[in-house]
Amino acid sequence: MEFTDRVLTCIDCGAEFVFTAGEQLFFHDKQFTNDPKRCKQCKAKRSAGNGGRVRTETRTNCSECGMSTTVPFKPTQGRPVLCRSCFQKLPGRGQAAAGA
Ligand SMILES: [Zn+2]
Ligand SMILES: [Zn+2]
Repeated sequence: MEFTDRVLTCIDCGAEFVFTAGEQLFFHDKQFTNDPKRCKQCKAKRSAGNGGRVRTETRTNCSECGMSTTVPFKPTQGRPVLCRSCFQKLPGRGQAAAGA
């Protein structure tokens, strides 16, 4: 399969950008079937808007108050999971800097 540079139009800003042969090869390699839709600037802007990182959040229920909450890790079976406010109420947690 041969690739040649192609000029695409960004759907966000309407600017033309080059989808290079190298990038096409990369897309082909990754089995991406869609052409890129945004120029580099808009892509960078979008990922910056999302915080730029992927976080795994698991929806679960607080074992203290039963409130639905999300935790940034996979809860282990049998271990209590606390929502943010219950976590703060735990002795020795959250108020560590208060001094006693
Ligand atoms: Zn753009
Ligand atoms: Zn709770």
